[in-house]
Parts: sequence; C-alpha cells; structure tokens
Amino acid sequence: MNVLDGRKVANDLLDNLKNEVATLQSQSISPKLVVILVGNNPASLSYIKQKRKACEKTGILWEQINYEESVTNEELIEKIHELNKRNDIHGILVQLPLPDHIFAPDVIKAIDPKKDVDGFTAYNIGKMFLSTDFEDLPPCTPAGIIKMLDYYDIDVAGMDATIVGASNIVGKPLSTMLLNRGATPTTCHIRTKDLKAHTAQADLVCVAVGKRNLITADMVKENVILVDVGCNKDENGKLCGDADFKNIAKKARYITPVPGGVGPMTVACLMENTVKAAKKLHSS
Ligand code: NAP
Repeated sequence: MNVLDGRKVANDLLDNLKNEVATLQSQSISPKLVVILVGNNPASLSYIKQKRKACEKTGILWEQINYEESVTNEELIEKIHELNKRNDIHGILVQLPLPDHIFAPDVIKAIDPKKDVDGFTAYNIGKMFLSTDFEDLPPCTPAGIIKMLDYYDIDVAGMDATIVGASNIVGKPLSTMLLNRGATPTTCHIRTKDLKAHTAQADLVCVAVGKRNLITADMVKENVILVDVGCNKDENGKLCGDADFKNIAKKARYITPVPGGVGPMTVACLMENTVKAAKKLHSS
C-alpha cells in the first residue's frame, strides 16, 4: 500500500503526547492552549472542533475566547497582550481567517513568540532559515508533513522537491524545512510559467493551493512522492485535495489522501508545539 496514513501517524503522536502531558502534570505543569475565534466561519468552527478534540485526547487544557465579527484590531491585540502575561497559558492561537477589517499580521505579531504554537510569528518563521536546530515552534502543517515523511523513513536528502503554493503558513516554510534536510526545493506559485515542467521532474511534489485537480497524473513522474495539503469540496460536497488522487496513486511511490493525510498531522503538531512551549516556558 503506498498511501501515507496521516491519521495513524497523528494518533501515535497524540498517544505519546498524552504520556508526556501526564508526566508534566505530575510536576505541576499543565499545558494549556487558548484559541481566539472571531465570528463563526463554518470552516473555522470545524478546525477548532478538531483541535479541541486533540486537546481532550492528550490532556492539554483548552480555553476558547469568542469575539463578534465587529471586534477591532486593538481589542484583539489587547487580549493577546493579557494572555501573553498569564503564566497558566502556554499556547495562543488566533484562528484564521480574520474578517477583512482586521489586519491579521498585526494581530499575529502581538503573540509572544514563546507562546506562538501555530509558528506564524516572524521570529519563529525567520529562525528556521538558520537550520533544523532553530525549528523550535515550526508552523504546524509543514512540521506535520516532515513528521509524516520521517515516520515512513522517507529521507528527503538529495531529492528534487517541488512545492506548489507559496503561502507564509505552508509553501514557504515547507520549502525551508525541506532545504534544511538536504532536499533541493523549487517553490511554484500563481505566476510560475510552466508548472508541469517543475512537477514532472520532482521526486517529491507537495501541493498546497486550494484548487481541486490542479495536479494530474500526467504532471508527475513514476514513483513520485506526492503530499497533498489542499482542502476542497468535490461535486458531491466531499472533502478532496488538490491532486487527482485516484490516478496519481497508480504511479506514485507514496501519496497522502485527503482527508486522512496532512490534516490530522497539522493538528497533532499543534499539540506537540503546545507541549514544547509549556516545557520551555517552565524551564526558563
Ligand atoms: P493560500 O494562502 O491561498 O496560498 C495558496 C498559494 O497557491 C499561493 O502561493 C498562490 O500563489 C498559489 N497558487 C494559486 N493558484 C495557483 C496555481 N494555479 N498554480 C500554482 N500556484 C498557485 O493558501 P494556504 O493557506 O497555503 O492553503 C492552501 C490549501 O491548503 C488550501 O486548500 C487550504 O485549505 C489547505 N490547507 C490545509 C491544511 C491542512 O492541515 N490540511 C493546512 C493549511 C492549509 P500566489 O501567492 O502567487 O497567489
């Protein structure tokens, strides 16, 4: 079977974290995550539900702060400053997207990098350029992809890796993390002239765009490793990725499904970052 089972890898990681949380609790350290939600975007509510469930599974404490759509930048930033000071809180997450009138970079910037368990602050992202030793709180989706590849003993060193999508939360940090591990990454985006030329020569293709069927079987080589981050709905309203899973699976060495691939790994890595942050905050 060439399908990388993100659900299984994530469950193993959550089981290990549960033990780690229990050990920390026996030392009077109770890892705690706070999630700020603005409005009631259905996708955000669904992501939050998954994160909450993972907290319950691992024993990480959960606090949710809800705001109406009309909240201001200043109100959010003031709340984050308050949470930064609280010793009982180790992770702060602002669920994205935020409404258009909120300038998300300013809100993210307010999070203390030590509590930035999403790994979105400039400090945590910037540090990753140095080497793997500085990936303390990496963004959860790229971290989840790396962890899944590690789990299946897939060594990316020396691989040509094409990343399709260049967002600050997935594509760009994933390129950096693959480079840190000895791959040769190429990052494609909307203005890339010939996408197929880049995907067809790659040993590893990671796609994070949000366009169904963007990557088709003719765009990848035999024995490719394909990681699909995309979240889309098919004509029946079912969740699907950015790649033509059915046809690519026939020629791929490995492929991740949607659902059940990168998604659960992202949530598990959020839990891991929260535990890491708790340990670091208590040791300093
Ligand atoms: P994003 O911020 O919208 O970025 C999309 C990227 O794709 C941009 O860099 C864009 O290029 C590029 N792009 C758009 N059309 C393209 C095309 N035709 N060819 C090549 N590149 C193209 O999205 P994101 O936040 O990274 O998320 C991407 C997808 O992954 C979404 O479906 C999202 O829901 C999903 N996601 C899943 C998880 C998970 O845990 N499973 C986590 C995060 C995101 P420009 O920058 O030039 O516009």
